[in-house]
Order: sequence, then C-alpha cells, then structure tokens
Amino acid sequence: MRVFSGKPFYFGLPYAIIPAMKDFRTELLGNFISYTVFDTMSEPEMVGKKRPTTDGQRTFLEFLEKCLNRMGLETRLEDDWVLKGVLKGSKTDPPIGFMAHVDTASDVMGNGVKANVIDYEGGDIILDSGLVIKAEENPDLARYIGSKIITSDGTTLLGSDDKAGIAIIMSAIGHLARHPEIPHPDIEVYFTPDEETGSGMDEFPYSEMHSSVCYTIDGGREGEIETECFNAATVTVHVSGVSIHLGSARGIMVNALTILSQIASCLPQAESPEATDGRYGYYCPLEISSTGDAGEMKIYVRDHDEEIFNFRIEAVKKLSEAIAFIYKGKAEISVHVSYHNMASVNKRNPEAVDIIFEKAKELGIECYSQIIRGGTDGARLAEEMGISSPNIFTGGHNLHSLSEWVSLDAMNRAANLVLALAEGR
Ligand SMILES: [Zn+2]
Repeated sequence: MRVFSGKPFYFGLPYAIIPAMKDFRTELLGNFISYTVFDTMSEPEMVGKKRPTTDGQRTFLEFLEKCLNRMGLETRLEDDWVLKGVLKGSKTDPPIGFMAHVDTASDVMGNGVKANVIDYEGGDIILDSGLVIKAEENPDLARYIGSKIITSDGTTLLGSDDKAGIAIIMSAIGHLARHPEIPHPDIEVYFTPDEETGSGMDEFPYSEMHSSVCYTIDGGREGEIETECFNAATVTVHVSGVSIHLGSARGIMVNALTILSQIASCLPQAESPEATDGRYGYYCPLEISSTGDAGEMKIYVRDHDEEIFNFRIEAVKKLSEAIAFIYKGKAEISVHVSYHNMASVNKRNPEAVDIIFEKAKELGIECYSQIIRGGTDGARLAEEMGISSPNIFTGGHNLHSLSEWVSLDAMNRAANLVLALAEGR
C-alpha cells in the first residue's frame, strides 16, 4: 500500500520523506544518456517514401527490442516498425498500454547529440556552444536546485521528446519485470517511429492492441496530464492560373503565386499560432510552391472545437475560391485530417484519467490537467480504437529547441507514476 503523509508536497523535496517513491535516477540517467547517442531525427519530407523516415530510428528500435527481450518481455517488430513488448501479469484485468516515440524533431539539428549532465545550483546554465538557458526565462528551473538537469551542448536538441518517455517506461516496466511478486495485469509497451512527422500511427498494428487504456509518456513540464488536444488538418490549396511569355503577358497571364500569396495574406493574423494560446485555434500557412500557372500552399488548421475546426477548413476553401476568382484563376482545396481531439473519448472513460490523479496523490506528485496545443500518437489511438490515451509528463522543457532541458528528478517521479499505473487498481 502506498502511503503519503498528507503534508503539502513541494518539488525537490528530499526523497527520504516520500516513502512511496522509488529511486530510479541512476538507471534513468544511464538509459537516457545512452538513448541520446542514437541519431533518430525524423524527416518529414520522407513520409510516404520510407518508414521509418530515417535509418537511425530502425537501429534504435532494434536496440530497444533487445533491451525488452533482456527484461523478459515478448516482443514484435514487423514491417510497420512499431515495437511492441508484452509483460505478462498475474491479474486478469484488461492489459494496460504505455507508449512513447523513438524519433526526435527536425526543427533544429537532432543528430550528433552530446548530452550534458549538470548538478544544478541555480542561476543561468551556459552550454558549451555559448548558448545560455536563462533562469529568468525558465522559472521551473528553480524547482530543481540541488538536483540533476540534462541539456545538450547547445548545438543540437537533446531529444527528451521522447527519449525521456522511453527511459521512464523502461525503468517502470523493468522494475515490474524484476519483481514478479508484484501483481499487475498484462502490460503492453509500444515504441513508435515518426511521431514528429505525424505519420507514426499510419501503420500502427491496431488489431494487435488489447489494452483498455494506453498512456503516452510524451508530455513536458512536471505534473502536466493532458487529455485534450487539437483537431488538426493540413489544407492544401491548389491554384491554377495561365502562363504565357512574360513579354506578352499583359491582360493574359494569371500568376498562381500572386494568387497564393494573396490568400496567405488574407488569413487572419490574429488567428495565427504566434498570436494565440489556450483554446484559441489558428491558421498557419507554412509552404508555398509554384511554377507560374500552377501552385499550391499548405495551411495548418488547428482548433480544439470540432465545429470551429470544420468552419476553419470551410473558410480556407471559400477565401481561396474568392481570391482566385478576382484574379481570374481557379482554386480548390484538399484536406488531410491528421488527428482529432481525444477529449470526447477520454470523457467517455473518466476512470483512465482519474486513476492518474489518484496514484499521483498517493505518491505525492502534484498533477494538473492541461490542454495540448498539438497532438499525440494517443489522439490517433483514441480515434481509431476509441480507447483513452491520456498523455503524461516527462519533465522536459523547451522541447524542439537548442535550449532543451530535462530534470532527472521529474523523470523519476514520472517513472514512479507509470509504475503505479501499471500495477492497476
Ligand atoms: Zn513527442
């Protein structure tokens, strides 16, 4: 039985006075640092051409399969490059799933990572590259004075998104594997490729999943539990115009690029990612290509509210058609929905979320609900299988950037939470 004294919990509290908490820090640190060495940056432009989009992800998945085997888990790793591990349990309750992704983002260089472990004593952190992680801009650092912080050398990202998630799952499930006397239901572990490209779940072995709930360990700040995400679509605007020799173009030429740039500039700037937060959705044009008489533009459309999300897609269509008409061109759109908000599925099964808060309370971890301005692989699971997939923190900060950092203590608390969840009711 896990017991918490009931005293208020403060981050950074010495472990001695939280009896329920296990100390996985040495193992977490060793595993995490060894994972950062794998070059697993994914490549969005290779989606549909290669899976995983980069070879390093394969190497890492094969490595993780061996680790799971050594821990005593049965594994599968097929052509879809989703690694599944099963740890048999003594409880007959439905299996519980845990998921993390092996790829890292390509927003900044993600390969050639040199991890840097700091005994944090407060103040700014100066990385080898000269980049400074300012305490003033990172108020959460203060929680971790006197404990270990991990960063890159400042020339790459670190990759705690989501290698911290993998390390957390490995420690928690490894503990269960070493202690067969602890009762738990069957545990399914999933490590997926290409989450950052949005294609990780395209070839997921949905029919092989038996879990009634699958937690993704892919969050950030300590304590954050995410059960709601965006509805997300990429709307491609296809414009056709008229091309002619530029010397005799007057009154005849219809320049697709001109039309596309007009459409981009008519999108409401107040509803862009840089101008919104919370539940406010947005339009974000990110790519235009054109050859004179034909061109296309990709616009990311995001909103938590399904109705407003659909309205936004319709608005792009109407706006594009109207502007193309003015310029005597033609516009049509194609829509690729990447994922839907998992909130409705999570609300149908409140138990899956409630138990996180119960277990966290027992452990003395202060958790709070947070909405994601993005998506997770769990959103696809919720959509395809109707199962709850809440997202749990890893302790990572400034993700997808050179100033990324993760707290080892936060990772340890996440691992304890995963262990408690894996034991089931
Ligand atoms: Zn992630």
